Amino acid sequence: MDIAELAAGVAAGQRRALARSITLVESARADHRAQALQLLQTLGQSRQALRIGLSGTPGVGKSTFIESFGLMLTGQGLRVAVLAVDPSSARSGGSILGDKTRMERLSRDPLAFIRPSPSQAQMGGVARRTREAVALCEAAGFDVVLIETVGVGQSETVVAELCDIFTLLLAPAGGDELQGVKRGIMEMADLILVNKADGDLKAAALRTCADYAGALHLLRRRPQDPPGFPKATTVSALSEDGLAGAWAEMQALAAWRRENGHWAARRADQARHWFEEEVRHGLLAALAREPALGVMQRLGANVAAGSLTPEAAAAEMLSLLGRA
Ligand code: GDP
Repeated sequence: MDIAELAAGVAAGQRRALARSITLVESARADHRAQALQLLQTLGQSRQALRIGLSGTPGVGKSTFIESFGLMLTGQGLRVAVLAVDPSSARSGGSILGDKTRMERLSRDPLAFIRPSPSQAQMGGVARRTREAVALCEAAGFDVVLIETVGVGQSETVVAELCDIFTLLLAPAGGDELQGVKRGIMEMADLILVNKADGDLKAAALRTCADYAGALHLLRRRPQDPPGFPKATTVSALSEDGLAGAWAEMQALAAWRRENGHWAARRADQARHWFEEEVRHGLLAALAREPALGVMQRLGANVAAGSLTPEAAAAEMLSLLGRA
C-alpha cells in the first residue's frame, strides 16, 4: 500500500481514502500497524475538528439525534463525521452503526461521513483505534466529529478521553427519580440533552430536564466550565426543536474553553493519556508473547512450588522486561 498516496487522499478529504485509512488503523496485523503509524505521522495534527462525544442508553434516540443534528450542521456547510466506540456485542443486531438505514439521509449527504463501529470486541482495542480514526477525520478536514457510545459505563470514560465536549442524551423519565445515571457519568457531562421533548412526552421531558439541571447544580464547579455549565436542556430529535439551541451551547462552551486555555490543556492531557495507554497495552501484549510468556510460566511454577517468593519472582520478571 502506498502510504504517501493514501495520506494525500485523506488530506484532500477523499472519503474513500479516509475509509481505507480507518480500516488500516483498525487492523491487528503487525505490518498494517507499522503502515498505520506511518500514515498518522505523515498526516500530523495540523487540523482540528470539534469533537463531540454523545452517550446514551439504547432507545434514547441517539441515531435519530445524530441524523437530525448532523443534517442541521451539513445544512450550514459543515463537514460532519460520525464514529462509534463500542464493542459490537453491546448492541443486539451487530455493529452499532452498521445498519446505515438508521441514519439514511445523513449517510447519503456528501458532507457527512459515517463509520460503523469496529468489529473487534475488546473495549481497550476499539477505543485506541477510535482515537486514531478521530485523528484521521480531523486530518481529512472534517469540522465536527461526533463520537457515539452506548451507555455501558466503561465506554463513557473512553469517549470523555476522546472528545472536546461530552454530551449525555436522556429520555424523559416516567417517575421523578434520576434515571440511574451514575454520578461519575454526570460529572463527565458538559451538556445533558433530554430528548423526545415533543407531543405527550414534552411535559415529562421538561420535568426531567429540571431534575437534572438541579442535580448538575449540586456538582462541584470545574475550572474548565464557564458559568452556567454543565447545563441541561431539552431537545426533540424528531421535531428538531432545540437542536439549534444545543449547537449554540456547544459552540459557546468550545469558544470559552479555547479563549481560556482549557481546550488546549484538555487535548494535551488526552494526548498524554493515550501515549500512556499505548505503552501499557504494548507491555501487556509483550507479556503474552514469547519469550516473556515462557519466563512468566517458569517463574509462576517456581512460585507455586514455593521455591521463589511472589515478590522475588515479580522483581526478576520486571528486571527482565526492563532489559528487553
Ligand atoms: P438509539 O437506540 O439511542 O439510537 O435510539 P433511536 O434513534 O433508534 O430511537 C429510538 C426510538 O425513539 C425510535 O422509535 C425513535 O423514533 C424514537 N425517538 C427518537 N428521537 C425521538 C424524539 O425526539 N421524539 C420522539 N417522540 N421519539 C423519538
